[in-house]
Amino acid sequence: MKRLLIDGRLVETEKTFPSLNPATGEVLDHAPDATAADAEAAVAAARRAFDTTSWATDTARRLRCLRQLHRALTDHQEELRDLTIAEVGAPRMLTHGPQLDEPIKLVPYYTDLLEKYPLTEELGESEIRGQRHRRWVEKEAAGVVAAIIPYNYPNQLALAKLVPALAAGCTVVLKGAPDTPLTTLYLGELIAEHTDIPPGVVNVIVSSGVEAGEVLTKHPDVDMITFTGSTATGRRIMEAASATVKKVFLELGGKSAMIVLDDADFRAASMFAAFTICSHSGQGCALTSRLLVPREHHDEIVAMVAAGLERVSYGDPTDPKTFMGPLISERQRDKVDAMVQRAVAAGATLVTGGKRVDPGFFYTPTLLADVDPAGEIAQDEVFGPVLAVIPYDGEDDAVRIANDSIFGLSGAVHSADAQRAIAVARRIRTGTFSINGGNYFSQEVPFGGYKQSGVGRESGVAGLEEFLEIKSFAVVVP
Ligand code: NAD
Repeated sequence: MKRLLIDGRLVETEKTFPSLNPATGEVLDHAPDATAADAEAAVAAARRAFDTTSWATDTARRLRCLRQLHRALTDHQEELRDLTIAEVGAPRMLTHGPQLDEPIKLVPYYTDLLEKYPLTEELGESEIRGQRHRRWVEKEAAGVVAAIIPYNYPNQLALAKLVPALAAGCTVVLKGAPDTPLTTLYLGELIAEHTDIPPGVVNVIVSSGVEAGEVLTKHPDVDMITFTGSTATGRRIMEAASATVKKVFLELGGKSAMIVLDDADFRAASMFAAFTICSHSGQGCALTSRLLVPREHHDEIVAMVAAGLERVSYGDPTDPKTFMGPLISERQRDKVDAMVQRAVAAGATLVTGGKRVDPGFFYTPTLLADVDPAGEIAQDEVFGPVLAVIPYDGEDDAVRIANDSIFGLSGAVHSADAQRAIAVARRIRTGTFSINGGNYFSQEVPFGGYKQSGVGRESGVAGLEEFLEIKSFAVVVP
């Protein structure tokens, strides 16, 4: 059985909870169930490591340890791939991209960045009442970081927090998601067994409930929270962290719109929309789940998207040809199905999909047409392979509908005229944008949301700076 990592030791717990294989519904293994006391112990270890070791100040040591981590990840990449497929239900194809191979590249990206990133900045001298003052800035680690992640891309989400936090000199308590505990614990094992990262610098816990997570968000010894998950949980975390005024970094939900302009290649855009919404069964925060189409071309585009969805191969995630795997749990499948049924009851047309497939937690690629932009299915995150088509009247109307959301994570636009598409993209209030299929997902590209999709940016230079404090100095020049 996998173990928690607390203060450099891999530990078991009295209570355990099952982790299921979502493609079969069977128990994959049991995970240790961290208590509030385990979370307290992890925070104490991280605090001690930050306050009493050279981790925060010894850049060479951090570089060496991070390179060992990269080596450990690449040496054990195939075991991690098999576990990710089995526990997350991620199709093998996706593990060659954002589920595994891409996130591993975050490690060399941040070691390279740390080597060249200027941690000090001279601001020159000022003169006040005849005295000269030299001023400068030093950037240093934010302190003890609690990193809390959801289930959908556990490797990406853990590494996009852990690696820049460690590069910055922080110590970390990482909490994995209850649906995918084993994948996150495996990372802890690699750290404990294959790196010289000192005890307490990285602690990894998982739990079936919210108690252990709540300890992290309220604890006075935690300086910063980096959280990815739903907007509802993000609000609770922000509130919990307010008592001790923690630095709070949030990556939350999305309801991103893809706008098909009237001059676009409808077939290509429809195919793109169909495959995008089925990527990891729609369990992606930045996927475009609303498709905005010119009203006069609505039926034609709906037919093309439906044809695209028919071509999505779903099933066994271990099969290299499978494009779409299962949803994570029966609970998630119930939620998705209930939202589809309510959308139909509210007047949307179910064009295709809307079916459960057993065994496992599969849900067929689903298309809803003639969707009311104010309705639940157009406003709330589904987190399933469900695309809502909304007709618009003119470019301004498309922009208005796209922005009519509490979320602001991502978006897309398709047009024969790239300049026209870029002009539309600039009018949408989101943190990332894809133009004519452009791919922004990569280590060096900042990722995050506007509005209720979050606060801050992950990846890229901005992703390192989230974990740095800025200290300003001044000394009188003799
Ligand atoms: P969730 O919000 O239910 O849970 C996320 C994590 O928070 C889990 O580890 C959970 O145990 C923990 N948690 C729950 N309540 C807590 C509390 N009160 N205190 C501390 N921790 C608590 O999210 P989920 O269902 O696992 O994941 C899906 C959500 O994640 C979607 O909304 C999706 O959009 C979002 N997401 C966002 C991004 C992004 O980068 N913006 C990326 C991936 C997923």
